[in-house]
Amino acid sequence: MTLEEYHTLRQTPVPGGHLYTKPGARGLADPAYELLARYLEPHGEDALDLNPGVGLVTHALHRLGLAVQAIETSRASLRCLEASFGNLLRVTRGLPWETEPASVDLVAMVLPANRGTQYVELSLLGAARALRPGGRLWIAGSKDKGFEHYFKRAQELLGFGLLAGRAGPLRVAVLEKEKPTGELPEVWQSFVWNFRGETLRFAYLPGVFSGGHIDPGSALLLQELPAAPGHVLDIGGGYGALSRPLQARAQSLTLLEDDWPSVLSARRNLGEGAVVLHSDVDEALTPSHTFTTIIANPPFHVGGLVVLETAAAFVEAAYARLERGGNFYLVANRFLPYEPLLEARFATVRTLAVDSHKVLLAHKG
Ligand code: SAH
Repeated sequence: MTLEEYHTLRQTPVPGGHLYTKPGARGLADPAYELLARYLEPHGEDALDLNPGVGLVTHALHRLGLAVQAIETSRASLRCLEASFGNLLRVTRGLPWETEPASVDLVAMVLPANRGTQYVELSLLGAARALRPGGRLWIAGSKDKGFEHYFKRAQELLGFGLLAGRAGPLRVAVLEKEKPTGELPEVWQSFVWNFRGETLRFAYLPGVFSGGHIDPGSALLLQELPAAPGHVLDIGGGYGALSRPLQARAQSLTLLEDDWPSVLSARRNLGEGAVVLHSDVDEALTPSHTFTTIIANPPFHVGGLVVLETAAAFVEAAYARLERGGNFYLVANRFLPYEPLLEARFATVRTLAVDSHKVLLAHKG
């Protein structure tokens, strides 16, 4: 897939209409979304979709005649939502727990189970806060990914709930808000990491990749980076695990990240000295923007599925954004087949280090 193909939105038929979708965006052909969209019943006037992805459930709520707001964190998904719904409804970039209190009659959410317990529980709290008294929460998820636990948690927060549907391991439940909702807890966390004698503090929000510790792959990559990397681009930079240690020796630092909580975390860690963009791969860069060194620890899970599409787009973007003579440093799990992707593009590809991960260096001639 070329970079242009990766960035192209496609119209896809869904029951009762069309939705835009693209590689790297969540929530289409996803049975949890399909099940929730199928079982939803209207209630009141105002609805909120707290984990819309490309908007299958949003679309169902809209068709039921509700005034819908969709709050999404992923830039890839936001691009699709904006294209699909434009002026029809409110598409907002935001954190699922930062909802406007007592503002809607219905909240729908596919449980974001792959983002960890804390993220899901805060999302439930955001849902509970957003509901008016008597409002309803619809959730969907898999019993293999904690559905029972989250359903119980939602009942503690809201009140009465019942199972509304099932398909295989998937469940849909609806709850009614009978209880007042508590305050939001402090969501920011931090940890320190020693890198070459320097103590670095990292702040992070729930749900980010490798919160609380530096990923072993990222640590291995940091060992291999040059002393004078020049103008650096960090693709899929997370909360800044790779960029922060480089800050003192890079001429400039640009970090691209699809996930909004990660963007906010990276901005906190890197401060004014770096450019941190909410970006689906290199979508937020201007066409002429190029770099001396590009670094990445690419994702290989999107919504729990192993997909190399986004990682392949990282490779394409790295090639497109490097100056001639520039270097792309990539770390990946050992079993992931990056070499053919890199060799298809770059003049030379070398393996710099291997343990549970491997660090690859691709040179643009
Ligand atoms: N560099 C960080 C994070 C690595 S995990 C570290 O070393 O700790 C991969 C990161 O890629 C995640 O933060 C994920 O949110 C981000 N990502 C996933 N899809 C993306 C996309 N389409 N565009 C940009 N970033 C993306």
